[in-house]
Amino acid sequence: MRILVTGAAGFLGSHLCERLLNEGHSVVGMDNFITGSPENLAHLTNNPRFEFIRHDVANFIFVPGKIDAVLHFASPASPNPSSPYGYTNLPIQTMKAGALGTHNTLGVARAHNARYLLASTSEIYGDPLEHPQKETYWGHVDPIGIRSVYDEAKRFAEALTMAYHRYHGIDTRIVRIFNTYGPRMRLDDGRVVPNFIQQALRGEPLTVYGDGLQTRSFCYVDDLIEGIYRLLLSDEHFPVNIGNPAEITILEFAETINRLVGNKAGIIMKELSRLGDDPQRRRPDITRAKEILKWQPTISLEEGIKKTIPYFKMKLGLE
Ligand code: NAD
Ligand code: UDP
Repeated sequence: MRILVTGAAGFLGSHLCERLLNEGHSVVGMDNFITGSPENLAHLTNNPRFEFIRHDVANFIFVPGKIDAVLHFASPASPNPSSPYGYTNLPIQTMKAGALGTHNTLGVARAHNARYLLASTSEIYGDPLEHPQKETYWGHVDPIGIRSVYDEAKRFAEALTMAYHRYHGIDTRIVRIFNTYGPRMRLDDGRVVPNFIQQALRGEPLTVYGDGLQTRSFCYVDDLIEGIYRLLLSDEHFPVNIGNPAEITILEFAETINRLVGNKAGIIMKELSRLGDDPQRRRPDITRAKEILKWQPTISLEEGIKKTIPYFKMKLGLE
């Protein structure tokens, strides 16, 4: 297939491009570098099956030549307001990537009669009242909360994707991605994994927000990409959760990082600067992914973190 990947220069997009090329496909990467970096694609630029177009997906998209599949991953993804790359500091761009970007990429899929895959998120469940989260859960989202620019854009994107499927018969798929980590996460986007690993490598105390009892379930990037690839090849049109169901409190997570890095500086608790909308619990129910895709994660948190640390060491010039 010749596959358009938006958000190609980001963390997940770059791993996706690499995997698709390794599977023998041709890839057209698209990105405007708002949170991503050309460095993430540097190792792919000599591949004759890889092309890149610098473009903002909020504007009309024209791709020369035939496209067989469109994977829409372009969107800021970090909620942290203390980073300039956090989506609360890019609110309009985030809504445009989720709304206009989804419309434009669905338009490409329609024009080329291509299959389509939307990168959605566990954030569409908001601060969930159901635990763990199944795909049937409708979510608990404040439409005007500070996270709403991301959550509601993704909810709109899901609705639009289903509308194109039902009305235009487009061959769509929706993946609801839960917290994923690994090499090529942006050092300064404020997400918990880059923050903690970086602080630990510098010998600083880890900044735990709130009481640290909120939970997340962290998936290593290779596991996630495997699930997404299987979904792309499947015929499933309804959303599928992909994530690692191993749930951990942020406090335990901080202790794990300090132990794996050998950081003696401990932890400092920071007041939550997030107006109380930090989801308290998050864990995917992956029954559907297991049944439909025969997929489940294979990499434990310790293994995944050990695979990630060298990347951050390299970025910090420690190796
Ligand atoms: P990222 O910030 O590393 O990558 C996003 C990429 O999209 C960046 O390269 C950015 O420059 C690009 N982009 C943003 N707006 C654009 C626009 N208007 N036009 C063109 N390019 C644009 O983030 P990520 O973690 O790789 O996330 C990728 C996708 O996966 C996002 O859609 C995000 O919502 C989704 N997701 C990620 C996670 C996760 O844990 N990493 C969880 C849930 C969902
Ligand atoms: N967090 C933290 N310290 C940090 C960064 C994040 O305690 O330096 C917490 C954050 O409050 C949240 C969790 O870690 O409870 C995950 O945050 P992240 O920004 O990675 O993404 P989220 O899962 O909230 O979308």
